Amino acid sequence: MSNPAAPARLNPAAMARQQVALASQHLDIDPGVMQKITATKRELTVHFPVRMDDGSLRMFTGYRVQHNDTRGPFKGGIRYHPDTEIDEVRALAMWMTWKAAVVNIPFGGAKGGVQCNPKEMSPRELERLTRRFTWELLPVLGPERDIPAPDVYTNPQVMAWIMDTYSIMHGHTVPGVVTGKPLELGGSLGRFEATGRGVFITACEAAKVLGMNIEGARVAVQGSGNVGGVAARFFARAGAKVVAISDSHGGVFNAKGLDVERVLSCKNQYQCFISDRLEASDITNGELLELDCDILVPAALECVITGANAGKVRARIIVEGANGPTTPEADEVLHDNRVFMVPDILANAGGVTVSYFEWVQNLQNLLWNEEEIDRRLSEIMRKAFNEVLAISQQKNLPMRIAALMLGIERVAKAQELRGVYP
Ligand code: GLU
Repeated sequence: MSNPAAPARLNPAAMARQQVALASQHLDIDPGVMQKITATKRELTVHFPVRMDDGSLRMFTGYRVQHNDTRGPFKGGIRYHPDTEIDEVRALAMWMTWKAAVVNIPFGGAKGGVQCNPKEMSPRELERLTRRFTWELLPVLGPERDIPAPDVYTNPQVMAWIMDTYSIMHGHTVPGVVTGKPLELGGSLGRFEATGRGVFITACEAAKVLGMNIEGARVAVQGSGNVGGVAARFFARAGAKVVAISDSHGGVFNAKGLDVERVLSCKNQYQCFISDRLEASDITNGELLELDCDILVPAALECVITGANAGKVRARIIVEGANGPTTPEADEVLHDNRVFMVPDILANAGGVTVSYFEWVQNLQNLLWNEEEIDRRLSEIMRKAFNEVLAISQQKNLPMRIAALMLGIERVAKAQELRGVYP
């Protein structure tokens, strides 16, 4: 039964539509074209059985939403989470379309999810779930069609199972069907770190705009996974003071700065933070967002900065490692309070950018070295940041609206050039 005292869960699909409506006020795009590029092209919902370790059969529900492929094949991660549902996946798919366009890589947008709790499943159960879900998606996947990647609670091992299942069904190895693979199977150097690195690069650009020094800057990071954990490492290495890190249960705080390596290895070893051992105090995820800090990196789930807490955010810069962490209502408050926002479709685009490098390498049987990857990633992230900044400054609009305008305009242009069949 739902709890009547609990606040209504914000609907990410409604949020994504609202963002588009705000951005489109400043764009001169044919209404028909606008309708075409905001509509979801294809949605697949599958219910499928998985044999559990105790011998029982359990049904799971999974989704793949293909939002738009005007600029290239559908691209986007697959998440495993108990709360994932179709509207969330719809929003995430649309954000992927704008994200790929903002960094100007030739992909469209898609997203997938399976409603499950991977923390309560064994590796063998996760493997069976992944293989069966891949089989259900076979008609819509492919290196020229739709290329999944990791997202919340999925990882290179899950990508390896997707690649293997798809390859077996096609009778030959197809590395380019998925990105974020292990290096041994055609994964790209630098892909694992890419989203966190991109968050760090755009944070440095934002700091430059405000005349802030990264060295000594106080950074609070919500999340400690592939995005938050990696970003925290980059900040610490650059001499920033990472004052807080969290996971889904809560986090640790030290005003003088945490030892990020120790915090992450504690999490890795014990699956939790032990504040006594880390010279830190416990902190809730809500408190973390309101900390006195210079840079706030929400790098977990969507809708965490809302109308209810946005006024209490004290950071001068927010860099959205997560997709959709800030609601439109919160955006207004943050803008009024002159918080510099690096929006998700720009800040976390490092992941899909190196996914693009991985896919290009796979299609051409090439192998780039890490310097090459890092150089190309920095170049793309900085260019996108400065393009968005220029729109924001010229039109005196928030960075999110500027990023959406850049992304939407590129997709609209591609749509106009392609025209409509027949
Ligand atoms: N899941 C990541 C994102 O939300 C990466 C997607 C990809 O590499 O395709 O951007």
